[in-house]
Amino acid sequence: MKLGALLGRQPLPEIPSIPAYLRELALRTKGFLSAAEGDRLYHLAAESARRAPCLEVGSFCGRSTLFLGAGCQASGGHPLFAVDHHRGSVEQQPGQEYFDPELLDPVLGQISTVSPLTRAIRQAGLEDWVIPVVTDSTRASRNLPALRLSLVFIDGGHATEDVDEDFRAWAPRLISGGYLCVHDLYFDPQDGGQAPRERFEKTRAERGWEQVGLVGSLGVLRRC
Ligand code: MG
Repeated sequence: MKLGALLGRQPLPEIPSIPAYLRELALRTKGFLSAAEGDRLYHLAAESARRAPCLEVGSFCGRSTLFLGAGCQASGGHPLFAVDHHRGSVEQQPGQEYFDPELLDPVLGQISTVSPLTRAIRQAGLEDWVIPVVTDSTRASRNLPALRLSLVFIDGGHATEDVDEDFRAWAPRLISGGYLCVHDLYFDPQDGGQAPRERFEKTRAERGWEQVGLVGSLGVLRRC
């Protein structure tokens, strides 16, 4: 007999793998998340969205959104709030390293990633499981004051003040046992900016958090 049964606890239902067509669609969607990182987000969302909604900051064109949204769907519980101003990051502006001319809105003459995101959600059939919130993280937080979350994925602006603001806005919303996932943790400054890793490590050192693993550059803490 399993320990959980001896203690009178119901085992959690097994989480099925992400459907192959959703995984393929997610990996075809523009983005900077690896397959292994996406699979981890899917499983964490599938486990946690039974209890409360999930939220991501920095949807971009929807790769992480599809992994997390698929996890919410698998949970049969709560949806994902996908927060992004959709103006692109500093590095994605014209003339910068990650500029992509396909994302330039011809009318605005500015980056806009709203249309790729909503297209990806619709193609994935995840409209019941993903709620796009098209504004910046601070304004979203201010206007959704009652939202309590089972998972937060932070992948927004990578400047220190952006990262700090995203943590301040959303980490306190996590319920006990909830997951704080942070992308782009780099141990070598040559690989990328240090602000996400520094903030992640500061948070890990605080009381009430335990680290549950690192996949690629994706770090995960659990609120305990
Ligand atoms: Mg990222």
